[in-house]
Amino acid sequence: MNFNRRDFLNRGLLGAGAVLIGSQIPVLTSCETPKREDKTQKVPLNLSFQEGTLDGDSFNEKFDKMEELGITGFEPWGSGLNARKKEMLEALKGRNIKISAICAGFKGFILSQEEAVFEEFMTTYKDLLRLAGELGSVGVIMVPAFNRQEPCRPHTIETREWLVETLSELGDFALKNNTSVILEPLNRNEAFYLRQVSDAASICRDVNNKGVTCMGDFWHMTFEETSDSGAFFSAGEYLSHVHVASRKRRSMPGEDDETDNYIDGFKALKQMNYQGFVSFECGSIGNRADTVPAAVKLLREQWEIES
Ligand code: MG
Repeated sequence: MNFNRRDFLNRGLLGAGAVLIGSQIPVLTSCETPKREDKTQKVPLNLSFQEGTLDGDSFNEKFDKMEELGITGFEPWGSGLNARKKEMLEALKGRNIKISAICAGFKGFILSQEEAVFEEFMTTYKDLLRLAGELGSVGVIMVPAFNRQEPCRPHTIETREWLVETLSELGDFALKNNTSVILEPLNRNEAFYLRQVSDAASICRDVNNKGVTCMGDFWHMTFEETSDSGAFFSAGEYLSHVHVASRKRRSMPGEDDETDNYIDGFKALKQMNYQGFVSFECGSIGNRADTVPAAVKLLREQWEIES
């Protein structure tokens, strides 16, 4: 049989058409007009707070305030989390609040050239992955190396290949625990090694393990990305978490006035049918009793804007 690439593509398209015909194209009767489905309106904005987003002395106090604001995600610090777990889970009982991601909290760093530091990273990071699985969290956020962390493997192809292999091992471990590794790109002043969402996604693609994902942080994206929507689109299926802050001073969204525009990024998240959390990672210049509800309102308003 003479079977070339064009045939293959044509057959593939025909095959795809057949699937569409069989399952997705609605059957119309007489002059019925098909209703256009607006998928973007159905994507929820799932907001999450970090431990420090609200003032409060206890988990219960913070969760009460979160419920008043309709916040359904909570992002705890990884550091010392095991010791706080019991109290946290007790306070979460009967509430519509899930653990979103776990924010770092491990020791050492993955790109360390010192074997002992690397091993300490692997042990403590796996402990947090285990905990993340237990808590139903999407994953544990990891920065491969902050600028201040030395000695660090050089920024070379060999290091990238080594990183991909090591992440593959962690991805397997994460999958066994029903959670994921979350790579977080930061701005150049904090972590030159990994700056752009697309680069993090590219590493995820090369690892090719569902247990390795990435995230975008609007604060860092302000300095490193040419387009919020482009950054999120580039992450595609690998995007598992998002951080948000004001865009000049890393404060509550809205405290930097008109600079705090997230509409373009939100457009991408809606079109991607992103079901994860947008989690606050920021300080506050004003009184949190005022700035937090104002930030929630601003984000919800911007989410509703069609662009
Ligand atoms: Mg962040």
